[in-house]
Amino acid sequence: MTLTEPSVTVLNPLTRELVGEVPEHSAEQVATVVAGLRAQQAHWQGLGVAGRTRWLAKYRDWLLDNQERLAELLRSETGKPYAEALVELPFVIDELNYYGRHAAEFLADEQPRPHGLLTAGRRITVRHEAYPVVGVISPWNFPVALTLWDAIPALFAGSAVIVKPSEHTPLTVRAAVDGWRSIGAPQVFETVTGAGATGAAVVDTVDFLQFTGSVRTGRVIAEQAARRLIPVSLELGGKDPAIVLADADLERAAAGVAFGALVNSGQMCVSTERIYVEESVHDRFVELLVDQVSALRQNNFDGFDTELSGLITDEQFEIVQRHVEDALERGATVRHGGKPGMQPGFFEPTVLTDVDHSMLVMREETFGPVLPVMRARDADQAVELANDTEYGLAATVWAGSTARAQQIAHRLQVGAVDVNDSAAAHLICFVAPMSGWKSSGIGGRFGKEGIRKYCRTRTVVSSLPGTATMAQQSWFPYSAARSAFFGKFMRLTGGRDIRRRLGL
Ligand code: NAD
Repeated sequence: MTLTEPSVTVLNPLTRELVGEVPEHSAEQVATVVAGLRAQQAHWQGLGVAGRTRWLAKYRDWLLDNQERLAELLRSETGKPYAEALVELPFVIDELNYYGRHAAEFLADEQPRPHGLLTAGRRITVRHEAYPVVGVISPWNFPVALTLWDAIPALFAGSAVIVKPSEHTPLTVRAAVDGWRSIGAPQVFETVTGAGATGAAVVDTVDFLQFTGSVRTGRVIAEQAARRLIPVSLELGGKDPAIVLADADLERAAAGVAFGALVNSGQMCVSTERIYVEESVHDRFVELLVDQVSALRQNNFDGFDTELSGLITDEQFEIVQRHVEDALERGATVRHGGKPGMQPGFFEPTVLTDVDHSMLVMREETFGPVLPVMRARDADQAVELANDTEYGLAATVWAGSTARAQQIAHRLQVGAVDVNDSAAAHLICFVAPMSGWKSSGIGGRFGKEGIRKYCRTRTVVSSLPGTATMAQQSWFPYSAARSAFFGKFMRLTGGRDIRRRLGL
């Protein structure tokens, strides 16, 4: 691939030092890359699941061999604490192994039995055949996981894949995709870099688009994809609630809520961003939460022995500051933090109380280290408040009884609920789908559907030799007698209603 002069610079958000430069690929360059992928895809598909799995297993080994190097690169462009940068790749490898064990089963032809007499004597085969080229456009908050988690099942399915990482964090993804080339695998996996225009060029050229990012960009992409009539899967933002009931183990709930709200300094799609606590335990819970949050460290710039770091961009910092200021103007109380941190880009982990739904911090995605806690009269009001949002990504419920918590979980308008566990727990349950409701997305990742979505289905219906099918009675020529006979037959077989069948 011929590259333009480097034109996107990548800064370490902690030190503001330059850590790399990548090309800003033009629409023409994206089209050339996609044409190359398209040319290779039939060969990739032809390897079958077993052949593709062998290459993906080699790739897994390469990722394992390069884990430390990739984690360092990730740290340099995201500013994540070491502990968080180190685990992102193992989560990808875990998913790769999951699909490695199940891809053959999920992609196998299916032979559903004919459903009734009308189709008896037919063999029905459903094949799952991959979209030739899949585009994956990803955000900056978990650059490696949120790119490879979607690219890997597409490769298993038989698609060629082009990824477009965030312009803020393209380096680790690019290095990880280079690994595919270095193991000598078929050239069905490529990266292009740049900002929105490069992403738009990807949407314009691929056959399926997988997007993770903001609701705003998701809408733009959905419109562009609709014009091309290509399918999209959108994993978008959230405003995830936590519900803490009076009988919950409050110590564990406070620790779990603090973790779920502050992983990656709150820059996680499923971060806990609103906390509803039953009135009788509100004050005690707030005390425990403040204990948890005030013990966290945000002062160690080498990334070791620290839990919190800075926000990825000035824009992100300004959103956090604006949400906190708006809450304070409308009557919220700061219980911890509430101010910019000790260096540019840092915002103190902040616990707010006396919040309500008039405040930005309870309505819009903050994507920062802010934990607003609101009293709820009872569980019913907590559910009502939790559902009072345009988002529907995920939630957590904390309660003494798992059964009661599960009942509450099923009343929440979200794609996933973690019961007595942190907001990140469901993210690594690869056997089950992760999907957003309402403005939080369309489609989903993981599980059987996480690989099948990259496939179109082809149904082949074969009349077996010697089995004259009843449906043939509907062929030409028409006559009143044959039509009447066939109509009755349809009523009998399709209607399945004894009373009406017998004319009673
Ligand atoms: P973003 O929407 O600004 O950008 C995401 C990606 O889209 C980037 O690669 C960007 O270059 C690209 N892009 C921007 N404009 C485009 C266009 N017109 N056409 C094509 N591509 C375009 O999001 P972000 O700030 O990088 O990420 C943060 C957001 O992502 C938050 O809202 C967060 O909740 C969401 N998110 C969702 C999930 C999930 O799984 N649901 C996971 C992580 C993050």
